[in-house]
Amino acid sequence: MNWHRIRRRVQVVCFLIFLVLPFLNVIRFDIPKQRFYFAGYELWINEFAIVFFALMFLMFLVVLMSVFFGRIYCGYLCPQMIFSEASVFLENWLKRKRVPRPKLVFLAGVAAASVVLAFIFISYFAPPSLSLFGTSTAAGICGAVVTLLTFLDFAFLKQKFCTTACPYGYLQGLLADDKTLLVQYQDASHDCIECKKCVRVCPMGIDIRKSPFQIECVHCGECIDACESIMTRLNKRNLIGYTFGGFRDAKRVVVLGVLLCYAGGLFAALAMRHEMLVRIDPVRETLYQVGADGRIYNRFRFQIDNRGRKPGAVVFSIQQLPGAALAMDTNPVRVDAGQSARGEFQISRPGGKSGELVTHFTISTASVPGREASEFPMTFLAPGEGK
Ligand code: SF4
Ligand code: SF4
Repeated sequence: MNWHRIRRRVQVVCFLIFLVLPFLNVIRFDIPKQRFYFAGYELWINEFAIVFFALMFLMFLVVLMSVFFGRIYCGYLCPQMIFSEASVFLENWLKRKRVPRPKLVFLAGVAAASVVLAFIFISYFAPPSLSLFGTSTAAGICGAVVTLLTFLDFAFLKQKFCTTACPYGYLQGLLADDKTLLVQYQDASHDCIECKKCVRVCPMGIDIRKSPFQIECVHCGECIDACESIMTRLNKRNLIGYTFGGFRDAKRVVVLGVLLCYAGGLFAALAMRHEMLVRIDPVRETLYQVGADGRIYNRFRFQIDNRGRKPGAVVFSIQQLPGAALAMDTNPVRVDAGQSARGEFQISRPGGKSGELVTHFTISTASVPGREASEFPMTFLAPGEGK
């Protein structure tokens, strides 16, 4: 098995995924609009349950990956590692090809790539547009800062970032145990010829023969390929390989169980989601009004959030309040996709019914699209007898 070739293919796929995710709204925060895009859903920030379950699900997915497979995310999937290795490759390639002023060309190439990468990164948090290139908006200023940090990272830090600054590496140290996937050197018959090819190819600059538990190891498998190429020529078995402790133990079962619980919660929250969210509250600055027509009026306030992708409308009606009439500017209320509508309406009923200070009744709403119906228990206030 050639791990280098597999890794390069996986990295190309991951790079393409990193490029397109924000443009397809698979996962993206839109901070200016206060939206969270997840799996094609446009979630409003007040949809707390879904946002909570989605974030917890993603967090435990990372934990699960770490417990089972160690830093394999770093070696195969992480954009930081992909771009660091690309940066090292570019630098070496320019030297090999004897390009004039290789350092300057290298820095220019990294600077150009940093602009593109920063644009994609900021697109995870703001709508992707050319305004991200200006410094007149918060997103544009963030873009300029991220461009500078990206340049410094890939021009100078590269894989040093993984061993000094990346919190995932430290998290891995807490989560890994003897059953986690490891890259291990085993040489019971003392076959190692000390060629040190495994050390030379290691992108993290470590010697895996010293210990399989070195925090710097990103499980990339380059040393496995290196040793394989040497030992095959000597007709001996590879001294380095992946070792895996297995799936069945309490820690893994618990982490998997928690992940499934959050996945279930997320699924249920998405299934129960209302695209048209209607809220109604009574306006109690004035308890009631008696009109010139002798009817008694109560005032109510409403808000409709259309969290879907199509224009919608909500129809209001009254139940269990005999003789009631609804006075609204428009009914149904139309709301464009992604917009909110607010307003007030009055409900009146005939006056002259003594003794009924408080009447319980229901305001019903029916919305399209989705045919979602909701009922809001309310109270109608009226003057008491003789008042
Ligand atoms: S590549 Fe294999 S043989 Fe060479 S130093 Fe490393 S472990 Fe020993
Ligand atoms: S020790 Fe081997 S698996 Fe670990 S980072 Fe170095 S080359 Fe990759």
